[in-house]
Amino acid sequence: MKRMSKKTLLLAGAGHAHIGLLRRLSADRSKNNASNALIDTDIHLISEQPHTLYSGMLPGWMAGHYQLDEISIDTKSLCLRAGVRFIQQSIINITAASNTVETSGNERFDYDVLSLNTGADTDLRGLSQAYDDMSNDTRDDMSNDVIAIRPLSTFTLQWQQILADARQSEQYRLAVVGAGAAATELVMAAQVALQKINNNHQVTLVCGENLLSGFVPSFRQRVIKQLHRHSITIIEARATAYRDGKLSTSNDSFPVDAVIAATGVRGAAWTVSTDLETVDNGFVAVNSQQQSVSHPNVFAVGDVATRVDQYVAHSGVHAVHGGAIEAGNILAYLQSKMLTEYQPKTHTLYLLSCGDKYAIGSWGSVSLQGRWVWYLKRQIDKRFVTSCAA
Ligand SMILES: Cc1cc2nc3c(=O)[nH]c(=O)nc-3n(C[C@H](O)[C@H](O)[C@H](O)COP(=O)(O)OP(=O)(O)OC[C@H]3O[C@@H](n4cnc5c(N)ncnc54)[C@H](O)[C@@H]3O)c2cc1C
Repeated sequence: MKRMSKKTLLLAGAGHAHIGLLRRLSADRSKNNASNALIDTDIHLISEQPHTLYSGMLPGWMAGHYQLDEISIDTKSLCLRAGVRFIQQSIINITAASNTVETSGNERFDYDVLSLNTGADTDLRGLSQAYDDMSNDTRDDMSNDVIAIRPLSTFTLQWQQILADARQSEQYRLAVVGAGAAATELVMAAQVALQKINNNHQVTLVCGENLLSGFVPSFRQRVIKQLHRHSITIIEARATAYRDGKLSTSNDSFPVDAVIAATGVRGAAWTVSTDLETVDNGFVAVNSQQQSVSHPNVFAVGDVATRVDQYVAHSGVHAVHGGAIEAGNILAYLQSKMLTEYQPKTHTLYLLSCGDKYAIGSWGSVSLQGRWVWYLKRQIDKRFVTSCAA
């Protein structure tokens, strides 16, 4: 009897969804319970780094509550346990018409089914109104000056440099630009860390007029009170440029030693040259089954993708829950079975850390705060990271 040739499932990026899929494959493997869909399938995962940093614990690391290895997931070992080949490379293009992924190592990888979970880039456009018209060299200059929160691995090195500079300074001034939950967590973690070095150091949040606009008013008020408790300066103007040690806003300009941008996400750089259908400046357009609207053998989930049928926020929560559905759909697709829709829950639990082992929680219209909320967050976060090592 003629044996069918093996299929290739390529996992691009090691974001939340693929970590979840690897855990599932690893658990199935240890129970000798591999899905029939995968018996004749080779699985490869391409990611830039052998470790994935867990963003939910990053502010806790900045504030000194965790070591870097406590917030890192060893993707390479997880792949080994899951029976997945790990390839450490950066994806620079995807040509869906020929089913190929191109990497910075000048290699091409063919696939039968592709799953994208590469996250997104920090949106720096607001920091220079002319960002899209700039040459790549000028953009590089600007991104050397402004410290983007993504990729997290680069950010962790830059944060350590900030701490080193602050130790040499009498009065270090840091600005965090952004208006979302991540920006408020970062600014409080930064203030706690810098003031541990010297009380004269000061962090400023530059947030425009819409601080935490997606959250209920009670949660927003709680966060603003915590920002005041930490004596963080809040500037409700838009940051427009950072040049020669001065941060300009729509109202003013002032000197700072460093600027961190936590300004939301834009489509990943590699999407510029792909033939996959994208929306909103480079997010891979997917349907309710997390399947590319232009190429059915391509699935995408998390920050890299945008749902075309309904609004789903780019967040870790949807990367995890959407990822679980997407993983099932990949297996179903390989067996020509029916796909399932990802239906996001109306409310999700959000736990926001306030720098000093204190946190605020929100669930729908309910919000609460306290040290116990921080310990709850720590327990949930640690359980997630340690379960990836089991
Ligand atoms: C400080 C901070 C705190 C946050 N806290 C929360 C929170 O509490 N709750 C919440 O829901 N959301 C939170 N978020 C948002 C959350 O981090 C993102 O929405 C989430 O990480 C998106 O997950 P993802 O799986 O799409 O991709 P990511 O987590 O971004 O992972 C992408 C992966 O792909 C790899 N990769 C990227 N590009 C390439 C490439 N070209 N080639 C190969 N590999 C590549 C990366 O190295 C990484 O491993 C926070 C964000 C920040 C910055």
